[in-house]
Amino acid sequence: MSRYETVIGLEVHAQLKTRSKIFCSCSTTFGNDPNENVCAVCSGMPGVLPVLNEKVAEYAAKMGLATDCEINRTSVFARKNYFYPDLPKGYQISQFERPICEHGHVDIEVDGAKKRVGLTRIHMEEDAGKNIHSAADNASFVDLNRTGVPLIEIVSEPDMRSAEEAVAYLKELRSILLYLGICDGNMEEGSFRCDANVSIRPFGQEAFGTRAELKNLNSFKHIQKAIEYEVARQIDLVEDGDAVVQETRLYNVEKGTTHSMRGKEEAHDYRYFPDPDLVPLVLEEAWIEKWRSELPELPQAKRVRFMESYGLADYDADLLTGELAVAEYFEAAVGAYAGEAKKVANWVAGDLLPYCHETGVPAGECKLTPVRLAALLKLVDDGTISVKIGKDAFRDLCESGDEPAAYVEAKGMVQVSDTGELEAMVDKVLADNPSEVEAYKGGKTKLMGFFMGQVMRLSKGQANPGIVTRLIQEKLS
Ligand code: ADP
Ligand code: MG
Ligand code: ZN
Repeated sequence: MSRYETVIGLEVHAQLKTRSKIFCSCSTTFGNDPNENVCAVCSGMPGVLPVLNEKVAEYAAKMGLATDCEINRTSVFARKNYFYPDLPKGYQISQFERPICEHGHVDIEVDGAKKRVGLTRIHMEEDAGKNIHSAADNASFVDLNRTGVPLIEIVSEPDMRSAEEAVAYLKELRSILLYLGICDGNMEEGSFRCDANVSIRPFGQEAFGTRAELKNLNSFKHIQKAIEYEVARQIDLVEDGDAVVQETRLYNVEKGTTHSMRGKEEAHDYRYFPDPDLVPLVLEEAWIEKWRSELPELPQAKRVRFMESYGLADYDADLLTGELAVAEYFEAAVGAYAGEAKKVANWVAGDLLPYCHETGVPAGECKLTPVRLAALLKLVDDGTISVKIGKDAFRDLCESGDEPAAYVEAKGMVQVSDTGELEAMVDKVLADNPSEVEAYKGGKTKLMGFFMGQVMRLSKGQANPGIVTRLIQEKLS
């Protein structure tokens, strides 16, 4: 057991799913040709004025409402000044002293332990562009398509105590953003990115230790690994009598290590000040009430409802509500099946989710629709196919979009329930294995499994197991 406690606070940037940028009407479409989505405003020409995209305020406020933040009726845009080629104005428009949302929280659960993580603030800001370094051209290029794309930054209190808690918190945040439909959550494309502030302190000590800020974390796995590495590094330092220094560190994906990017001395002085080009944002009560009324059922509420109305365990409810599309798929399948919801949950969690994860096909686009999954389950229930055959057919049905009944018929997968046919197979198996038959009769009833396996092999998995069991028992009694 370590003598040290881990302390983590996270800063998350979520790209908002608006059609146009935050302060101009340029498109936010990803993947266009470089500098296609650029105008005088977002390229930082002198003499132009930014105008706030109303949707950005709506989305930021909705995230605040969904996380129990106070919504500031007046908030202020500020200039964060620094020089970088991808920032044509020489400053980023952000919010500083008066962000749109403050003092919220997100509830998480790790290994059965519930925990509340405080949100310090949520503010709106514009994204910067992208530098592209080309070895082939021996040159660097600047693409301003992303300049001015709207972001919210969600800053947590230093409330997390392990890498697992940090990941649980991030998954919950991402899930809320997706439920609200305000961010696509794509971590590889950078629509959901996170900086992790990590420190350690001896258990029992109240004062926080010096923190390092980790950057370049673009998957849950990397976040977990980077934090674990960083904690071990800091403990080693302290145990050796050295001090942790405050700095920004980069995670190296290949090595699984972190290395210093810049120290405190090189930290920017951003010289924040209110942006004189933008009036303070004043939110009317009626808008806030409208936005509140538009909030969907959020992941946590859905989780509780799934446990209560479908009798699901905590773990299944969690799996099925993580993504809205999966939750919707599940409920549609339960509706079409009109049988035990728990069975549907097993197939969705055990078969559909792995399929979606491996192939990248979203649940809502799977060709085995909820109605077809229900039809497949009914084929299992009425004995047309065995569970095993159903599971075997699952992937094919996801790919082909065939009707399950037609598919199993065409593939000759229909279960053999014809007693005469099954009896012939049982007789053959018993005749081929006389010593096992002797042993069974002598009390080794565990051999039932062996006989069953042989019949299944003979029938290529299509024998109705209930009938086979009965036949074997009859013949050996
Ligand atoms: P900055 O603006 O320099 O990034 P902030 O004070 O806004 O600094 O903190 C940023 C993040 O760092 C917050 O999420 C906060 O919870 C976290 N944090 C602050 N102090 C610590 C610490 N000692 N250990 C871990 N995280 C910390
Ligand atoms: Mg920071
Ligand atoms: Zn523009």
